[in-house]
Amino acid sequence: MERHILTVDVEDNFTFEELADKNDWPKYEGQVVENTLRILSLMRRYNAGATFFVVGRLAERHPEIVKYIMDEGHEIASHSYLHKSLRDVPLDELEDDIRRSSEILSSLTGGRILGFRAMGYTIPRDEATFYGLLEKYGYVYDSSKKKDGGLCRTVHEDRIYRVFPSSVSILGVSTVFSGGTYLRLLPEFIINMGFAQYRRSGQPVMLYVHPWEFNRDQPRRNVRLKYKILQSPLTFSTERKLNTLLKKYEFVSIREYIGV
Ligand SMILES: [Zn+2]
Repeated sequence: MERHILTVDVEDNFTFEELADKNDWPKYEGQVVENTLRILSLMRRYNAGATFFVVGRLAERHPEIVKYIMDEGHEIASHSYLHKSLRDVPLDELEDDIRRSSEILSSLTGGRILGFRAMGYTIPRDEATFYGLLEKYGYVYDSSKKKDGGLCRTVHEDRIYRVFPSSVSILGVSTVFSGGTYLRLLPEFIINMGFAQYRRSGQPVMLYVHPWEFNRDQPRRNVRLKYKILQSPLTFSTERKLNTLLKKYEFVSIREYIGV
């Protein structure tokens, strides 16, 4: 059976500032735990493995989420501490975020945190410093970058493995297809084309999904119209598509795939 990589970005679908009614906070904050449990039960049905990139601040508020994921044998990795863009943050804040998320998650798991993923594929322009900080705090792989053009292969540079979201080439145009908005909006035949291209190249597809994509009961969000449309529950086809893929392919965590 073909083997691919499954990842989950464990995060809320809102920031506190976005929710109109403060009384809604506890209700929707709790959703991420419930939605993560939905993903875990789907994966259990197919005996699939995955890497769960957990936001550090969320793990502080809901440490039980880390326990639920670990109890199922999956990998815990860092999805930063604050889940903010890292593109233009000052160096001390960048280091603090990388260090803090590792400390919190490793104290909850009792083991070393090997993987990092920045929010929304935002990494500092000074990539060498960024990768140097990851290495300093014990990470061995990064999944923060969306590479454009061609198939995105897993590479090992600067002593850090890099794992990219997967892209498909359609009539010479390359687009990511393996997660988030792309996975929700693209029809299944395009996703199947993507898997076929990776099969021919002998590389794994790396899927990435979010807990909130598994629950249509979404909080009212004060965000730009573009995001209201792109993240509308009407687009929530991730669960159906993932179910089909889990039937066809074997999925493992990044840690298991790269053998670290
Ligand atoms: Zn995220």
